[in-house]
Amino acid sequence: MIKVTCLGGAGSVTGSSFLIESPQGKRALVDCGLFQGGRQMESRNREDWGFDPKGLNTLFLTHAHMDHSGRIPKLAKDGFKGKVITSPPTAELSRVMLLDSAHIQEMDAEWQTRKNKRRGKEEVKPLYTMEDAEASLKLLTPTERDRIIEVEPGIRARLRNAGHILGSSILELWLGENGNTTKVVFSGDLGKHDQLILRDPHEIFDADYLFVESTYGNRMHRSFGQSKDELLEAIRYSVSKNEKIIIPAFAVERTQELLYLLGEFDREGLLPDIPVYLDSPLAIKATEIFRKNKKYYDEEARAIVDEGYDPFDLSNLKFTESTQESIAINEKSGSAIVIAGSGMCTAGRIKHHLKHNLWREGASLVIVGFQAKGTTGRKIVDGAKHVKVFRENVSVKAKVFTIGGFSAHADQKDLLEWIGHFESNPRVFVIHGEATASEALAKKIKDDFNLTVHVPKWKERLILKPREVTIESTEAPEPLPDMKEVLSNTIIDLESELKALKKRIKSKEAGEKIEDDDVDQLKYIQEELKEILS
Ligand SMILES: [Zn+2]
Repeated sequence: MIKVTCLGGAGSVTGSSFLIESPQGKRALVDCGLFQGGRQMESRNREDWGFDPKGLNTLFLTHAHMDHSGRIPKLAKDGFKGKVITSPPTAELSRVMLLDSAHIQEMDAEWQTRKNKRRGKEEVKPLYTMEDAEASLKLLTPTERDRIIEVEPGIRARLRNAGHILGSSILELWLGENGNTTKVVFSGDLGKHDQLILRDPHEIFDADYLFVESTYGNRMHRSFGQSKDELLEAIRYSVSKNEKIIIPAFAVERTQELLYLLGEFDREGLLPDIPVYLDSPLAIKATEIFRKNKKYYDEEARAIVDEGYDPFDLSNLKFTESTQESIAINEKSGSAIVIAGSGMCTAGRIKHHLKHNLWREGASLVIVGFQAKGTTGRKIVDGAKHVKVFRENVSVKAKVFTIGGFSAHADQKDLLEWIGHFESNPRVFVIHGEATASEALAKKIKDDFNLTVHVPKWKERLILKPREVTIESTEAPEPLPDMKEVLSNTIIDLESELKALKKRIKSKEAGEKIEDDDVDQLKYIQEELKEILS
C-alpha cells in the first residue's frame, strides 16, 4: 500500500509538497514549495512538517519556482540531509533563486522586527537565512532526464520534460518491489503547447495514479500572435512620444521570453533603435543560465543558435546589475524599454520605474504576467487612477497594455490533451489550483475520459492500492512462444527481404519504381532497429 499526504499545493497554487510512503515504508517528498499570498497562507511555512525531515532520504524537485522549491532551506535547517533529485538546469536556477529567497526572508524579518520593536513586541526570525540556503544547496543532485534511476530499494524514478520553465520536469515514480509495482506520475507544472524556448511537455502513456496540476484548469489562453502584435504596439506608442516602456516581469522564463521576442523583432528590423535594459540582478543571472543550457531548447530556439545568434541578445541590450546603473536609467530622458522585477510590482526595482514613469503621459506599462489580488500590478490593471509607490500617491497616466497571451502554464485545452495520452486509465488526483479551477478540470476529465477523479484537500492522506486486475478466460491459454526463436526467425525473414530489395535496386527498371516513401519506410525500420539495439 502506498500513502500520499498532500502537504501543500492541494486546494491552492502555492506550497506544493507531497509526502510519499512506499509499500516498504520508505519516504520521499515531491517538491517543497513556499506558501505565498497573505499572512494566513504564509503562516503555513512555519508549521510543523508533519514528518521528521531527518528520516527522509529523497526530495524530488520538479522545477525552480519558489512555490515548488522555496522551503528547501528550511527542510535542510530542520534536519534533512538526503538528496534533492532534480534536472541540471533546475539545480542551477535553484542556486540563484534560493539565495535570493533567503535574502528576501532576512530583509522581511528585519523590517518586521523594527516594526514590532516600536510596538514593544518580539523580534522576528527569518524563515531561513543565507547560511541555511547555502547549506541546502549542497544537497542538490543534478540528474539527467529520461533515464530511470533507483533511488532506494522500492523507489525508482524518471524525470521528463514538462516544458513549463527551463529544467522543469514531470516525475514518474515506480513504487514497490518484486514485480508488484505501482506507477505514480506527478505532472509538476506543465507548459503550454508551443511555448517559446522550450519543447512541449513529454507525452506519457501509462500510470496507475496521476497527480495533475490545474493552475489554468478552467481557462483558455489568448492567442500568442495577437500578444506579439500588442507588445510591438506598446513599444511603437511610447517611442512616438519619446517615453519609456516599463515591463514588470518574473525573473525566470517570462524575462527570457521577452528577450527572445525582442530579439526576434530586432532581427526582423521591427525594433526601434532604443536601449533595452534588463534591470534585475536575479533575471540577469537566470538569463545566463538559459544561455548555457542550449540542449534544452526547442527546434525554433535551436534554429536561431544554428544561424549564429544568441536568442536572448539584441543590439541595444544592457544588463544593469548595480544600483547606480539602475538609477541612471531614469536620469536619462528619451525612450527605452525597461524590464524589471518583481513581476507583480510589489517589490524590487520595478517600483522605482513606476515612480518615475507611471505619471507620464506617453509612457507605457506592459503587463505580461499574472497579477494577484491586492498587488500594485493588479490595481493598475483594474483601472486605478492612483497607486501607492514608496508611500507616495502616483497617478496613472501611462498607457496600460495588458497582454494575456504569455503564460508558462498549460491551459485547460493543453491539460486535457496531455491527459488524453494516457492509455492506462489512471486514477486522477487534481492538484495545484484554486478550488474552482481544480473542480472544473476534474469535471472535464470525468466527462471526456470517464476516469475516476478526486480533488484532494490540504493535509489529506491518500491510500493508493496496487490496481486489481481481473483476467477472465474461458479457454485454456495458449502456451507462450519462445521469444528468442521468434526473434531469430524474424531476422532471417528480414535478411532475405533485404536481399530481394538489393537485387531489385540493381536491376534496370528500378529507377522508376523506387519512391520517396519507400526510402522513408526503410529509414523508419532502421530507426526501429537502432532502438532495439540500444
Ligand atoms: Zn511553476
